[in-house]
Amino acid sequence: MNTQWCLISRPEGEAKQENFEIRESDMPQPQEGEVLIRNIYLLVPPSMRLWMNEKESYFPAQPLGHVMMGITLGQVEASNHPDYQPGMYVNGMGGWQDYYVSPAEQLVPVMKHPDVDLAVYRTVLDVQGLTAYGGVTEILKPKAGETLVVTAAAGSVGSLACQIGKKLGLKVIGVAGGPEKCAWLMNECGIDAAIDYKHEDVAARLDELAPEGIDMLYENVGGPVMDAVLERINQGARIGLCGLVSSYNGEVKQSTTALMQMINKCAHMEGFLVLNFMERAVEMIGQLHAWVLDGSLKYQIEIIDGLDNTLQAMGNVYHSRNKGIQLVRISDE
Ligand code: NAP
Repeated sequence: MNTQWCLISRPEGEAKQENFEIRESDMPQPQEGEVLIRNIYLLVPPSMRLWMNEKESYFPAQPLGHVMMGITLGQVEASNHPDYQPGMYVNGMGGWQDYYVSPAEQLVPVMKHPDVDLAVYRTVLDVQGLTAYGGVTEILKPKAGETLVVTAAAGSVGSLACQIGKKLGLKVIGVAGGPEKCAWLMNECGIDAAIDYKHEDVAARLDELAPEGIDMLYENVGGPVMDAVLERINQGARIGLCGLVSSYNGEVKQSTTALMQMINKCAHMEGFLVLNFMERAVEMIGQLHAWVLDGSLKYQIEIIDGLDNTLQAMGNVYHSRNKGIQLVRISDE
């Protein structure tokens, strides 16, 4: 049998159990050109909550009554396509379920290196790595010596963006929730300074840490912390809008006074999606893979076991409980 989590109502605020129906259905069978995959890892990005809204995001809105969409890594169980054989690992949009059938052209084979954990291929060497790499290099267009602030800095994308910034010779200040995350950023990821926005005055700390002003912001959160950074940008600053996680379960106010700084400083703000960087994906993933292998790119992957705990995993992401990249293990590797 195939256990499936189907969205049956639109959540208000955080997603809850009552928004889902758990169904037991027959094992799907692959037709010509299709592949049957057993899901192993489900990525839990904060934006998954946005997909549940009626209004479409960068994905079409999740239809009610259907298996919840999800970014997964799995293993081929059966195949009716010559390029895929049982046992191969693949990335796909497998959703919140044990098994799924996919047309072969919607899958990406995973070529696992023996020294790299499988989960890394759906995280650091996939969406998160590309978003961080492309966001820093193509959107922020950094010059060595400039000052970069990254929000949600200890998170999946944020921690990679911080480290890529350091590799490019930037002064990097991370903003994260809690002393443990800040210590990890400074001691393991090697950034210049970290601000604990839960316990410190962000504005005062920015004044202290970046008296020269801020040249770039890699924004993952939005709200008051973003305002504090915008108040301190330099002439011609670049702001990369990667995400606004503080708004995903509701509304968050942005100060127009802070936005006025965009005008005052002739700054450039650009929103972007990981899809923007697909043309350079092979090159970027190749570089990230080399850094993973030589140990110079640090990451933390937190795995929760069982599809039944996916809502708990989502809660972790919204309540600062995740240490790094949040995954759900649906079945063993
Ligand atoms: P993540 O950073 O690993 O996890 C989210 C983190 O955001 C949490 O650990 C928490 O860190 C912080 N956070 C959550 N709710 C918050 C709130 N209300 N106020 C302040 N901080 C809050 O997740 P991720 O997958 O790497 O995603 C980070 C951002 O990148 C998100 O905005 C996401 O939408 C965006 N993203 C964009 C793209 C794209 O293509 N544009 C692709 C992937 C991800 P603290 O403990 O530090 O508060």
